[in-house]
Amino acid sequence: MFHFDNTYIKLHEDFYQKVWPSSAVAPELITFNKELARELGANFESMDEQELVNVFSGKEILPNSVPIAQAYAGHQFGHFVPSLGDGRAILLGETVTPKGLRFDIQLKGSGRTPFSRRGDGCSALGPVIREYIVSEAMHALKIPTTRALAAVTSGDQVFRENSVPGGILTRVASSHIRVGTFEYFSCRDNLSAVKQLADYSINRHYPELKTSDNCYLDFFKAVAKRKLSLVAKWMSVGFIHGVMNTDNTSINGETIDFGPCAFMDQFNYEKVFSSIDRNGRYAYQNQASMALWNLSSLANCLVPLMDKTPDEMSTVFEEEFERLSEYFTSLWVQEMGKKLGLFSVTEEDKGLIHNWLHYLEKEGLDFTNSFQDLITLLSHSESQTLFKRTTELEHFVSSWEQRLAQQSQDREASKNLMQQSNPVFIPRNHQIEKAIAEGMEGNYEHFHRLNLVLANPFTNQDEHQDLKEAPKESEVVHQTFCGT
Ligand code: AMP
Ligand code: MG
Repeated sequence: MFHFDNTYIKLHEDFYQKVWPSSAVAPELITFNKELARELGANFESMDEQELVNVFSGKEILPNSVPIAQAYAGHQFGHFVPSLGDGRAILLGETVTPKGLRFDIQLKGSGRTPFSRRGDGCSALGPVIREYIVSEAMHALKIPTTRALAAVTSGDQVFRENSVPGGILTRVASSHIRVGTFEYFSCRDNLSAVKQLADYSINRHYPELKTSDNCYLDFFKAVAKRKLSLVAKWMSVGFIHGVMNTDNTSINGETIDFGPCAFMDQFNYEKVFSSIDRNGRYAYQNQASMALWNLSSLANCLVPLMDKTPDEMSTVFEEEFERLSEYFTSLWVQEMGKKLGLFSVTEEDKGLIHNWLHYLEKEGLDFTNSFQDLITLLSHSESQTLFKRTTELEHFVSSWEQRLAQQSQDREASKNLMQQSNPVFIPRNHQIEKAIAEGMEGNYEHFHRLNLVLANPFTNQDEHQDLKEAPKESEVVHQTFCGT
């Protein structure tokens, strides 16, 4: 049971609409994340399965829950849409953990809201299964993310390209405030709401800035740093978000919205999975510049709150964005450097990392498994790996060896660092597709197995070696769909 303590509803009434979840016809529980419930300090032990289903399908509303749909706008693929909002999500309330951390508990797919526009407010089961697996895997990979507390089938059919079973996911996030939430009020010239939202966000996510003289600029910088750190981490595991619109850009630095996302198998700088990303706007290697693009939208919203004139602020931000761009590079080199066993890195290591990545790209090698092969290479001076001994590889290995030798730590320590920084298991697309296909038939065995294995992605689990493998040619997933 949650002890809701709701603060968002205390904001101005323009921030949300009260709405009740639609009653699912015959919901059934797919899974309930007991571990996460414990972390949240929520005791559901006394509830039987039927009661859990009622709560996580929105059939039963818990005491003190005030369900709302939040208002937000957003730049979608560069085009501004002034009214988006929770069209198929309903925030049940906020809960505070025993450690004092505040989380939103939200149902996704529980029916229409005033923001649904032409949508049905439902989720297809496939995206529910995908989000559950990938968001929990992301957490286990130590990457900030929203979490999944429960997944249920709704008992309804929803119409996408075909008629498919509906599902509802319970999402847990440290908040659902997006860059698009700021844009919603900014584009309406509602400066007092922008200020209220900024103050609320600072209080909730960056309380250390409350006393700062320049708190809105500092807030911007802090959001930017978290976001860029997130993108560097995504890239270090080959993750492509796929729909990095401003409405999917959280101001707390968490990964949110797992629509057409994917982890890549074969490395390719330009990789795009999403069927709707026709120009590759959100391709793997564009993610940092797109994050900066989104942050510039946030900056525009915040400028009127600052003491200086817009012209003066534009100079301030110009310099700030240059710094942020460099900051991202330093984070990226750090993340990728760890994967190569480097304890401390400099800008000069960029070349080494790119040599390695170019080699992977040229040979069409699997991103995740190639790093595992490098660990093997480090253990045996004679290679026992599948690497093709090209000139590029020889060149990379010799400069890498030299670089490792410069460190004060020995090879064993580097190997340990690599093992801690390189997952053995990632949620591979073809495995997720298998879990979805089986789930649509009411069989969740593969779904549960993936969740179990992906909870410990850095541990080599002997009995699950098949889940390490790159897809066979016939299994490769070339495109992903929102399918919402
Ligand atoms: P997304 O592409 O998932 O970030 O969603 C963009 C916007 O479309 C958000 O405002 C969603 O609430 C809305 N939306 C997506 N799917 C649906 C749906 N099935 N019913 C209503 N609104 C939806
Ligand atoms: Mg979204």
